[in-house]
Formats: sequence, structure tokens, C-alpha cells
Amino acid sequence: MKSLTVIVPCYNEEAVIAESYARLKQVLHGMENPSEIIFVNDGSMDKTAEMLTAIAANDKQVKVLSFSRNFGHQRAVTAGINYCNSDLAVIIDADLQDPPELIPQLVETLEREQAQSVYCVRRARQGESRFKRSTAKAFYRLLNFFSEVKFPVDTGDFRLIDRNIINEFNRLSEKGKYIRGLMAWTGFKQVPFYYEREARAAGETKYPLSKMLRLAVTSLLYFSKKPLLLATSLGFVSVLFALCYGLYAVLGHWLGFTHADSGWTSLVVLIVFFGGIQLLTIGIMGAYIGSLFDEIKNRPEYIVAEKINF
Ligand code: UDP
Ligand code: MG
Repeated sequence: MKSLTVIVPCYNEEAVIAESYARLKQVLHGMENPSEIIFVNDGSMDKTAEMLTAIAANDKQVKVLSFSRNFGHQRAVTAGINYCNSDLAVIIDADLQDPPELIPQLVETLEREQAQSVYCVRRARQGESRFKRSTAKAFYRLLNFFSEVKFPVDTGDFRLIDRNIINEFNRLSEKGKYIRGLMAWTGFKQVPFYYEREARAAGETKYPLSKMLRLAVTSLLYFSKKPLLLATSLGFVSVLFALCYGLYAVLGHWLGFTHADSGWTSLVVLIVFFGGIQLLTIGIMGAYIGSLFDEIKNRPEYIVAEKINF
């Protein structure tokens, strides 16, 4: 029987942590697999740490990793995977949007399909704003257009992975991790599992627009070089345009259908347009250089301040 670790990143989740633990516990109790839960406390400022400590004091099946500060969801999940010793791992949010009751079906699907991973695809999303749903939907499609790896759309980090993928993931040395992308990148046999995403059981989202944007930018920068090449494409277009416009200007001068002193509007438009393109492409290069800089500094991805039951 394969052993199973459930990885739960938590950031200021005092409102749901008890319920989350109770539901997970019940699910794991009904399974034959030896199992454990790793809660990764990502520098919470509320009562999450105390609550997890109390849970772990009464239950040796629960392990807790506490970061020294908030390092972000992707790094909390990374730590959970790094510290997992089981044959299988499930990554699940603390807020019960991804129902823990599906875990036995994920394990069953993995075994039936002889797959290395079962990733959960959201068929419906309850309790999320239309803005969040539509931007997420558009973004997954945009990313697929840009990316050199093809990703399953409408898929978050909720998934089951086996030892093959855990080992390969642990070998990755990049610090800017877009986990769902890297999981697809590892290859192997990965099969979808369709589910309805529920509303958050309690508390507020810990993913404000700024964190969502950062994740989106990381995924683009780390999975595509196409934006860098945008300068070249735009350059070709503008050279072509300049040739045509130059021809028009010269012919106009010779044949007398343009007047030298009437060019103010076109000059302003051209300066603004090409100035914009240049700033845009310099900005894109800046973003790539910034992530190169981050990678070269080689700082640890997270700092563990406390470990319980390890
Ligand atoms: N989370 C985290 N660190 C952060 C932000 C979020 O560990 O800096 C955790 C959070 O506790 C939750 C999961 O990541 O378990 C997903 O966050 P949330 O449910 O707030 O995101 P949403 O579902 O709204 O996109
Ligand atoms: Mg959530």
C-alpha cells in the first residue's frame, strides 16, 4: 500500500484550519494508505501557528513546517514537496475550495490509469468573482499561446503526484517556481480529474490582485522566451512601415502631393508610437534581467523557523 502525504499551505487561515483538519482527517481515516498531513505555515500573522501547534501536539500524523516570514504560496508548496517522504503527495489548499473528499478518487484514478499524476481540472468555480474567473480563464489560454510547454487549462495546484514527479521536482534548481507549469513540464503520464470548485469555507482570499499578477508574470517569464522576441517582430513591422511611408514621402515631394510644412501630426504620432514600442520592449527585457538577477543571487527559496513532528 502506497504511503501518502497531504501538503497544505496556510497563510492566515485561522478561520478554516480546524475544519480543514477535521475533514482531511476523516478522509484519511477512511483510506488504507499510511498517511500524514504536512501543514506549511507561510508566516501567518493570525492564530494559524498556535492552532497548528495544538493540532500537532495531539496528532502525530500531523507535521508542521513554519516559515520565518511570508514567502508565498508557491514556496510553501515547494517546501511541502521537499519535506515529503511518502510514495504519493496531494497538494491541496487550506480553504476547502478543493474538497478533500476527492483524495481517495484521485488515488484510485492514479492506480487505475497507471499514471504518475492526476491533476484536477475545475469544471465550475463557486464563490469566486466573475473578474477572477474570466481573468484566470483568459490567462491560462494566453500562457498556453506563449509557452513552450503545453499546460492543461483551468488547472490549479490541486493534484496528486507520485514519487517520480516528486523526485524530479526536487531536482529543479530554479527559484522562481510556477508549480503547475513545472509539474506539466516533468512529463510522465498525467491524467485529468474533473471537479467542481467550491466556495472558500471561511476567511478571505489570500491571493490579492498583486500576488496573482506576480504569479502570472513568473509563469510567463519562466516558461516563454517569446516576449523577448517581441522587439524583433515589432522591429520588422516598423521597418516595413518606414519603407512604405518613406516611399510615400519621397514620391509626394517629387510629384507634389504632400507639403513639407504639414507634417506635424504624423511626426508626433510616429514619435509617440515608436517611443512606446521601445519602452515596452526595454521593459520586457528588464523583467527577464530581473529574474536572471534573482536566480543568480541564489538565495534559499524559504527559511524554516520551526518544525513539528518531523
Ligand atoms: N497561501 C499561502 N501563502 C500566501 C498566500 C496563500 O500559503 O502568501 C495559501 C492559502 O492559505 C491557501 C492557498 O495558498 O491555502 C490558496 O490561497 P487562496 O485560497 O487565498 O487563493 P484563491 O483560492 O483565492 O486563489
Ligand atoms: Mg482559495
